[in-house]
Amino acid sequence: MIALLFVLGVASQASACLQRIDHTPGVQDASKLIGPGQNFNDVEQIVEALGLNSDDWSLEEGPRRQIKYDLTRQRLNLYYEGLRVRGFTLQASLNSDEEYTGAVSGFLPTISSLDLSAGAGVRRRDLKQALAQYVNDNNVRINQGDIDSKDLRHFSFERQIYVDFSTGKASVVFFAKALVNIPNYIRSPRALFDGNLNLIKGRVSVRSKGSSGCPNALGGNLQFPGLTYGPGAGETCLNTKVRGDTCILHSKRFVVKDVKEKIDRREAEIVKFNCEDGLNDTYNGGYSSNADTFYYAQVFYDVLKSWGKDTSPFDEKTTTLYTHYAKHPNAFWDGVAATFGNGDEVVFPYAVKEIIGHELGHAITEDSCNMAFDGESVAVDEAFADICGKAVSAYLDPNFNWKFADNLIRSARDALRYFDDPTKDGRTIANVNDFQKVVADHPALGVGVFDKFFYLVNDAGVPFQSAFEAVVLANRIYWHGETGFYDGACGVLRAANDLGQDVTPYKSSFLQVGIDLSFCCLDGTA
Ligand SMILES: [Zn+2]
Repeated sequence: MIALLFVLGVASQASACLQRIDHTPGVQDASKLIGPGQNFNDVEQIVEALGLNSDDWSLEEGPRRQIKYDLTRQRLNLYYEGLRVRGFTLQASLNSDEEYTGAVSGFLPTISSLDLSAGAGVRRRDLKQALAQYVNDNNVRINQGDIDSKDLRHFSFERQIYVDFSTGKASVVFFAKALVNIPNYIRSPRALFDGNLNLIKGRVSVRSKGSSGCPNALGGNLQFPGLTYGPGAGETCLNTKVRGDTCILHSKRFVVKDVKEKIDRREAEIVKFNCEDGLNDTYNGGYSSNADTFYYAQVFYDVLKSWGKDTSPFDEKTTTLYTHYAKHPNAFWDGVAATFGNGDEVVFPYAVKEIIGHELGHAITEDSCNMAFDGESVAVDEAFADICGKAVSAYLDPNFNWKFADNLIRSARDALRYFDDPTKDGRTIANVNDFQKVVADHPALGVGVFDKFFYLVNDAGVPFQSAFEAVVLANRIYWHGETGFYDGACGVLRAANDLGQDVTPYKSSFLQVGIDLSFCCLDGTA
């Protein structure tokens, strides 16, 4: 019995929340106003047949659609004193002779004591300001500033009549809508205001179709499928800049320029395309380096923000990312921009997520301290970049593996490097005491020392994001232009200490790659 009462209670509450136009006071069922067997030549005759005063009321022909029995169904929009009556439409049927058959359905409100002068003094810019304020009141944009009325694109409004479904009372209102399209934020606000610009109701919806900044594209490559970009459910929105029908891979922080297999980057152009066409820049087995580069650069920025807690290297300027650079089996940071080669017969195009994070990691070090002229610094810089690349994967998938760039190589090897066992490639070292073997010819092979440390400290129980935060802090605060293994490791230890982390796993992990940090003084740094 108690259970039954509970169910009834929920049901009646639910039905009270649902709006029922047929329960609205004063509405009439149009299908009962027109008797059978009458045909009409136009909508004016329907207005008359409905018993409406044609001085006040009118019907506007809306979209039509072929239905069964050789009939065409058409929507008729209802107007009162020239103003659209929101929420009330009729449906008429036309026969094959284009005559209205008299079968009209829908509901009509009763409109009385309407103040038609309401909102007469409202100007366009007042409405625009009200809509911008509505967006601000209904969204949290931490550290990204407020929406201004100048951020509202495609703004439009219409003076209409609104009938409150619960009371049946009609009033003059403004329906306003716009597109807000600023970096990382694409929304379509729409709202209803009364004649005094008080909000009646509204919605700030995420754009999901049309020229929405979510063009279609396929990520990944022939062997390793990637993301499906697009506006739909289960698809990933690229959040491109939109100008009219054109999507542009340009955000506040990153711009993608396509070199189109040339070797002179000055010929590169900002990637622009018709949003509806989507991206199709397949080269050398990679589906869309442009889409992947733009997307994962943004992801890396998000990683830096939420895990690294420092995005400053990318906040002051827009970083250029060159794609489809020649038939080049590599990617590189040149001090100003990142460039992703198109690969060769061994590797796919280099614009894969961990390489993108890697190159942007170099940008951080560049901004911090212009490190990596030679020797140990090169190895430390490369390892920091690897950790940044791995952070992109770890951020997107808690079940990430410890291979580096395992979606890049066509055959033979299953990854570019291995955090858990850097020596697996037969060249990279994993202990600082082996550095003498590689320092002369290939100091970058020392990358494995800090790569292995980072794996070990995670394996010792330090969460990825905590270790990442410590390494980023070390890079920003402790490392300098000549940082080597010991100095760099000590910086990481001090950074972890600064963050209130237990430094024990850091010490033991560094010791396992040959770096004894007993010299590293933490006194006074806490
Ligand atoms: Zn590198």
